[in-house]
Amino acid sequence: MLGKLATYLRICGHDAAYALDRGVEADDAVADLAASEGRTLLTRDESLARDVDDAILLTARDVGEQLRELSAAGVDVSIADPPRRCGRCNGPLDRVAAAVDLPTYAPDPADTGVWRCLDCGQCFWKGSHWDDVRERLPD
Ligand SMILES: [Zn+2]
Repeated sequence: MLGKLATYLRICGHDAAYALDRGVEADDAVADLAASEGRTLLTRDESLARDVDDAILLTARDVGEQLRELSAAGVDVSIADPPRRCGRCNGPLDRVAAAVDLPTYAPDPADTGVWRCLDCGQCFWKGSHWDDVRERLPD
């Protein structure tokens, strides 16, 4: 339900696991996973938020509003610069030094910072997507 939010939180440098990415769906399993990995549980499910000690209940449907709710709850939702987490899979990012094995549409790392996910290989740089994300984050 909060997959889009997970992507934004990763862009903000948070280690944000998404339950469905992990094949976990049942409330009990989600609660157990959060507890065993020491994670704060973000959910729009009131009963789940009540059952878990370290949980933040979100009410908004829109990801921009959800980010504002998190900011109000004390979560840092400013964009991570340099980026640290893969928005797609939550893997750690590594700065790319040279244009080897980069997709053809990627900028030259000599001109623009490019980062690659160590887990899934996705490449990131500060392009138009970066600006879109920055605009959605609360001030
Ligand atoms: Zn990745």
